[in-house]
Amino acid sequence: MNRICPECGEEYKGRLDKKFCSASCRANHHNRKTAEERSYQRKINNILKHNRNVLAELNPDGKANVRKDRLIDRGFKFRYFTNEYTTRNGKLYRFCYDYGYQVENPEGEWVFLIKRQEYVE
Ligand SMILES: [Zn+2]
Repeated sequence: MNRICPECGEEYKGRLDKKFCSASCRANHHNRKTAEERSYQRKINNILKHNRNVLAELNPDGKANVRKDRLIDRGFKFRYFTNEYTTRNGKLYRFCYDYGYQVENPEGEWVFLIKRQEYVE
């Protein structure tokens, strides 16, 4: 039975579990997939690092109250964060690595920024 190699588009014959025409096509396919996955991870990491740098820039002293607009103007993406932390009195914080902000409910136009001093589980 002839099949089409998903990498080069050539017809080939072989056992059913043979998915590519050759070892090089199999390797190329795998390498491209790995590169795509790395590229996606790099994009997410860059967003998180950018978010972290925006928070650090607006919070040089470890605590700051800033208008939300100032984060948005700098391209801060609220959907991306590394972890959440809820204090004993129920305040939710979101972090991008070592810098975080309080998530208010309902959302106000001011954001309270903090810096994490040490790792908290
Ligand atoms: Zn091929």
